[in-house]
Amino acid sequence: MSEQINAFKMAQGQFDNVAKMLDLDPQVSEILRWPSREFQFTIPVHMDDGSIRVFTGYRVQHNDARGPSKGGIRFHPAETMDTVRALAMWMTWKTAIADIPLGGGKGGVAVDPASLSIGEQERLCRHWVRQMWRNIGPRQDVPAPDVGTNSRMMGWMMDEYSQIVGTYTPGVITGKPVGGGGSLGRKEATGFGVIYTVREAMKHLNLDPTESIAAIQGFGNVSQYAAIGFIDLLGGKVACVSYWDRDDRAAYTVSHPEGVDPRFLQTITDIYGTIDKDKAREAGYVIEDGDDWIAKDVNVLIPAALEGQINANSVKRISDRVRMVAEGANGPTTPEADEVLKRNNVFVIPDFLCNAGGVTVSYFEGVQNDMNYYWTNEEVLERLDTKITQAFNSVVEMAAKEGVYMRDAAYMVSIDRVVKAMEMRGLL
Ligand code: NAD
Repeated sequence: MSEQINAFKMAQGQFDNVAKMLDLDPQVSEILRWPSREFQFTIPVHMDDGSIRVFTGYRVQHNDARGPSKGGIRFHPAETMDTVRALAMWMTWKTAIADIPLGGGKGGVAVDPASLSIGEQERLCRHWVRQMWRNIGPRQDVPAPDVGTNSRMMGWMMDEYSQIVGTYTPGVITGKPVGGGGSLGRKEATGFGVIYTVREAMKHLNLDPTESIAAIQGFGNVSQYAAIGFIDLLGGKVACVSYWDRDDRAAYTVSHPEGVDPRFLQTITDIYGTIDKDKAREAGYVIEDGDDWIAKDVNVLIPAALEGQINANSVKRISDRVRMVAEGANGPTTPEADEVLKRNNVFVIPDFLCNAGGVTVSYFEGVQNDMNYYWTNEEVLERLDTKITQAFNSVVEMAAKEGVYMRDAAYMVSIDRVVKAMEMRGLL
């Protein structure tokens, strides 16, 4: 999380801007610019050395007009109520744009999970559920993994909830391990979803994917599969990825003159998305400053790490060749940088459209849990492609109809769907 950016103010600002364009009733705006419910709680954890450490946990349910709140749980040292609020609000727009019957929520814990042993992580996850179980559930609020959390943690959380309520309840959380209630295709879902939107945007802009080259920020769940998808599904090249090096407390860009091989890089990357830079160097990769990914001579940028990465300073470094920014991360572009991209005619695929693949397959996971019948990987990815393509088209159509920027068009589609659901339920 970038220090100077208040993500919630940014999320409210984006909403206010479109609410004004839509001439939305100020009373409706007042409802939607705030979360419906917020929880902040302490999580005491018995550490392996016998001490007790107290962590701060969060859950925010922004809106559930279209269905149960839905959104990940992040374990990140810079987590605050405001980051969780922003992410919860973006989830409302994301589930609406993907047109899945869910609302928006988000949770978190201010912690660096890599600093905990496996046992400490398990106790933290189980205690998070003990604090929240009354207010989550398949028909209330369904968490999922996000930055710093993974499928094993979701398995522990599902187990803790099932133990408390006394019934096996896989639908309480998604992103569970395959074989433990998880869906095939979930691990690729967000990254491949990003690439489905890039593919559609390339058709729209008349760009040849096989002549395209991308620079990707991050090398975690989203960026790994975005990189694989860019090469395998589109036939393009990936100039670089990047990562945060915990030991050096610095970010690095990892590039290769012939393009990176994400499948090889996966073999030298840990579960937190940290690349072994010595092994990368041995294999002919070039290690540069973490900020350099943005200045590469490419036509596609895919920020897929953290918020606020394309900002007033970094936006100046973007090459003139860049035609498209596909926002794999949530909130990677600050409003100042957004203005510059708009002015320079860069086609932006806004975050809550671009990275909606994860929540869409999370929804499929819940559907499969309800049916107690599981689809193949191909079935999941095919359904995902259909949903994401429809979502992309609805935004492009709105942008053309209203003559507005893609981000504003995406907000217009989502806000309209949420307001209609509120009206239909008699909430307005
Ligand atoms: P992750 O924890 O798996 O990976 C994050 C990656 O970013 C790691 O490689 C890490 O080293 C790198 N990173 C962190 N700080 C960095 C920095 N300053 N510079 C360069 N690299 C840095 O996380 P993820 O699940 O891939 O999520 C990435 C983004 O996508 C987040 O904004 C998240 O909210 C969003 N997102 C994730 C999903 C999902 O399904 N995982 C879905 C939608 C949106």
